[in-house]
Amino acid sequence: MGNHRFLKPETEHVDQSLRALRPTLLDEFVGQEGIKRRLRIYIEAAKGRGEPLDHVLLLSPPGLGKTTLAHIIAHEMGVNIKVSSGPAIERPGDLAAILTRLSPGDVFFIDEIHRLRRQVEEVLYPAMEEYKLDIVLGEGPHARSLRLDLAPFTLVGATTREGLLTSPLRDRFEVTFRLEFYTPQELSEIIRRAGARLGVEVSEEGAWELATRARGTPRIALRLLRRARDVAQVAKAPLIDRELARRTLDMLGIDEEGLDGLDRRILEVIIDRFDGGPVGLETLAAALGEDRDTISEVYEPYLIARGFIRRTPQGRQATEKAYRHLGRSSQSLF
Ligand code: ADP
Repeated sequence: MGNHRFLKPETEHVDQSLRALRPTLLDEFVGQEGIKRRLRIYIEAAKGRGEPLDHVLLLSPPGLGKTTLAHIIAHEMGVNIKVSSGPAIERPGDLAAILTRLSPGDVFFIDEIHRLRRQVEEVLYPAMEEYKLDIVLGEGPHARSLRLDLAPFTLVGATTREGLLTSPLRDRFEVTFRLEFYTPQELSEIIRRAGARLGVEVSEEGAWELATRARGTPRIALRLLRRARDVAQVAKAPLIDRELARRTLDMLGIDEEGLDGLDRRILEVIIDRFDGGPVGLETLAAALGEDRDTISEVYEPYLIARGFIRRTPQGRQATEKAYRHLGRSSQSLF
């Protein structure tokens, strides 16, 4: 999300058409049934008591709907949402400024919450626990501390890196939801609904074709839909059918497993340069000339979920499926 200080909801996504596709109600949020079921109960109960919802932690790889869910929670609770992110809150004072401006019941969404600085995070603890803000006035022996009351609020934290959360922070969330990759059926539904909103017709087979190659991720499914819409428009095609979807995917270099160029390069490097692994993340990133976080946060989760690589204590290892997918023989190895 870059290094903006204050992320206003309206600047959060530059792509307006994407924003328009974001569901606002829990009923419009496709999939994640277990999460929705629990959220409905918690929301109804909190509203019944006239209290804010308990703090919620959302965990998943990028693009699976954490930000969307945070907005839906605020909408369903009938409150405002303030949006920021871990790296955007530079000093304790920045956090204090946001917290003191919250109205009762508001949702405060912090994306990439694992990137909060330590000093900032410590301000958050009493705020989450008791709705209190501790302010230190002055320095050294004359320092005094002052405790302010905050409006009761709901913190919704999101992270792609569960392992980087400190335990005091994690322990202060009442509720933790782990979003799963979506099934092709669910992604088809997301694509068809979005198609209707964008005013493009998508056939069932066309939606399926895009859905099966979208890495289980709504953000990618919607991106593929927009690219297919471009292709349809230029080709003056009346609808996105299977043929047109395939053409789009070929053009983008996305194969039948939904892997793109970098996915395949990752597998190739593990197999060809490191004999199938195990290879450490740093070494792999260096060999690929790519950012290690991009590999571990964006690429790896899906490759692991689909059984192309496995994580071992010694590093990443290519599976037999990876050898087969690249048309390599793995007889000697397995
Ligand atoms: P994250 O915050 O996890 O990176 P987002 O909430 O930004 O993901 O979601 C990415 C895109 O996918 C958004 O345009 C959102 O509207 C769409 N999306 C995500 N999850 C769903 C869902 N369950 N149903 C419909 N659209 C979804």
